[in-house]
Amino acid sequence: MMLLLFLFSIDPRYHTQDEIAHELDSIANHYPAITKLDTIGYSTLDSLPIFALKISDNVMFDEDEPSVLYIGGHHAEELLGVEICMYMISDLISKYGIDSAITYWVDNRELWFVPLMNPEGHGVVMSHMDTIWRKNKRDNNNNGVFDLDYDGVDLNRNYDFYWSRGGSSDPSDEFYRGPYAFSENENRAMRDLALSQNFAFCITYHSARYGLTEVIYYPWHWSGGYSADYPFIRTVADSLSKRILKDSGVGYYTALPGQGLQGNARNWFYGICGTFTFCVEVSTTTIQPGWMVDDICQRNLAGAYYLLERVEQSGITGCIYDSLTGEPLSAEVIVQGYYDPTLPPRRSNVGYGRFLRILKPGTYNLEMRKHGYVPITFDGIEVTQEQMTELNVMMTRMGGEDPVSESQKKIEVSPNPGRNSVVIQLHPEIASLDIYDTCGRLVKRFNNPAGSVVWPCVDEQNRAVAEGIYYLSGRSGRESTMEKIVIIKNSTN
Ligand SMILES: [Zn+2]
Repeated sequence: MMLLLFLFSIDPRYHTQDEIAHELDSIANHYPAITKLDTIGYSTLDSLPIFALKISDNVMFDEDEPSVLYIGGHHAEELLGVEICMYMISDLISKYGIDSAITYWVDNRELWFVPLMNPEGHGVVMSHMDTIWRKNKRDNNNNGVFDLDYDGVDLNRNYDFYWSRGGSSDPSDEFYRGPYAFSENENRAMRDLALSQNFAFCITYHSARYGLTEVIYYPWHWSGGYSADYPFIRTVADSLSKRILKDSGVGYYTALPGQGLQGNARNWFYGICGTFTFCVEVSTTTIQPGWMVDDICQRNLAGAYYLLERVEQSGITGCIYDSLTGEPLSAEVIVQGYYDPTLPPRRSNVGYGRFLRILKPGTYNLEMRKHGYVPITFDGIEVTQEQMTELNVMMTRMGGEDPVSESQKKIEVSPNPGRNSVVIQLHPEIASLDIYDTCGRLVKRFNNPAGSVVWPCVDEQNRAVAEGIYYLSGRSGRESTMEKIVIIKNSTN
């Protein structure tokens, strides 16, 4: 038994959760100008914090800069992705102000890291309880005990995108998709981060215990066809894969379209958010000897950093404004010929009206739509290899200056300004309501609001929200409607 434990012991080169927490905390304290550490949620069974570290200049603000997200550790045993994120974080902060490319990226991008998506599962592996554990620790049979043969959910099958088609419905299976989509705290935390940030690119790091290794999967190819952006995602994935040298030192990673729709991160991020997401299957197995880890991380940096360059090459970007008020608009942006009407529309962001579409060199027709505004199309926009084509757009309200009379409004709030509680009346078509702060962060979500909701002016963690302006975004199918509310503090609070 001692021999067995010795053989399967995990090299101290791998971070424990405490080491991750301590290191991230120490980085945030030492580099407050360019790093911000957030807790985006808590794990499902053990309530362990899930950390997100943002690296950028003016880090406390959501600036008008492209965002890229790196995720490690969806699957507990796949330790290398966690290490790549930690390695990249220290590479970036230690070379900021020294290395010109890194300084430029930090100043002109918003980099986000969630190094360990599944902290409670990671604990199962690191404590040697089960070194091939994959899932979190959800108590599937509600017996109050953690059962290795029955508990846990595969966090990479729990996203709400063709959820019921992926993984397994059997709780004892290591691919168990959970009792319902987004049943897991970890997945909801990631969802809310993604919906608040408009990530252009995301890498989610995995490692395969068997099957294909050293590959990069991207969305998607299945019996229904290819993803709408397939030609563009594919070129990015090909370039990304050709920058990561294999462990053997001979040849590079291979990029492949992911087969089959299922509730995994890359399909959800692309399908729902429009984020080009790459699942990088690192190395040739899940846990490598400690001496290999630095080398694996170092070789992966070239791929990860490529996305930071790519985000300002070959594509179209710009901001959409109200022609009368100059206010930024969140409008639908359609690239004709590369459009999937079954997916939510790709929109410019709430804070800046910014859209960013990654394309290949060529000529494209774009269309912008927004409820209450005259749709606008641009034909023959040229895209070149080396830089983004800029296209700033003014949209004109329909029927003159004030077409949306009070009776047509789809969202009404009273009182406005509000204090401790407001009533939000919604058009019956509205199927979900999101409340954002002025930085575009999701504060609160109501699913199926059914005509009206009472908002006690608290966020998802039941904390009272700060004074200020909030945006209410109601969605009905492919349409969305926006309304503004001002919250003022009650003097007795
Ligand atoms: Zn995995």
